[in-house]
Amino acid sequence: MKPFQYLRPKTVAEAISMAADYPEAQYMAGGTNLVELMKRGIASPSKLIDINHLPLKKIEHRYDRLRIGALALNSDVAKHKSVLSRQPLLAQALLAGASGQLRNMATVGGNLLQRTRCSYFYDLALPCNKRKPGSGCGAEAGINRTHAIFFAGNGFGGNEKSSCIAVHPSDMCVALTALDTEVVINGTGGERRVLLKDFHRLSTLQPELDTNLQPGELVTAIEVTDNAFAQHSHYLKIRDRASYAFALVSVAAALQMDGGRIWDARMALGGVAHKPWRYWAIDLMLRGQAPSEKLFREVAEHEMQSAKATAQNAFKIKLTSNAIVAALKAATGIS
Ligand code: SF4
Repeated sequence: MKPFQYLRPKTVAEAISMAADYPEAQYMAGGTNLVELMKRGIASPSKLIDINHLPLKKIEHRYDRLRIGALALNSDVAKHKSVLSRQPLLAQALLAGASGQLRNMATVGGNLLQRTRCSYFYDLALPCNKRKPGSGCGAEAGINRTHAIFFAGNGFGGNEKSSCIAVHPSDMCVALTALDTEVVINGTGGERRVLLKDFHRLSTLQPELDTNLQPGELVTAIEVTDNAFAQHSHYLKIRDRASYAFALVSVAAALQMDGGRIWDARMALGGVAHKPWRYWAIDLMLRGQAPSEKLFREVAEHEMQSAKATAQNAFKIKLTSNAIVAALKAATGIS
């Protein structure tokens, strides 16, 4: 591990000023991903800014929105009464992720910023455009069973020197994307907000970048506006083993129902793209309809028309389609 300067700011403003003008500075919260990256020599910050003492842990519902501080622990968010009553999809997704021990250390902000688990990214002896831009993508002709089936623009094979077919690893972000969550970001220019759907990046010309955060910016909170999805939402995670495994495919389904019909629908998919994959057409396809397995099958197959398999993950296309149908059935309560 390379030597680094360890800093512990007392305020958000102090943290941001410490990071300003130092592109190699990194904030550290729970450290569950970053410390591993540093030990392996994948991350080498010149300054490690420990933000654990900043006042960013609060979870509160005010006016029409739930605000969760960036340092709130995943385990605390998953059991908070406002989360359980207003946004149970988020609690389900958090409990599907990682292990109990990790959820006790991992923060909401860190969860947003965790890096891919593509094995080539973690092996310094192998090519990886995300770790070393321009070196190639080891997974492209290698082991890619768990990799993406949805891509940006030119996508897989379009620009080999800059492409990355890794998937985003977070469960929490899939649920939050379906819920149209806002990310609150602070930097030297003040505060700005972005929808989570615009926070992470698809892999185009800069696969080394996972998000649209600017250097030195700090995520301080997320906010979810009230909705009518609490009674009809479901997070379904398909994985190789029952616990402590990343999703092969996951589905976050959030529906508003009345009189036996669907009046609003949101969906995001995990384990299928470089970022949580929002299924935009679902609201148009389901609005005003009565739930049925036939309808859900049509909805699933519509989205999968744009999926493209790698050499080893064709099974994911059928798996994702089936997972969409299963999640919608669970959310609507039909058998
Ligand atoms: Fe690296 Fe992405 Fe290719 Fe994995 S898929 S080897 S992270 S460029």
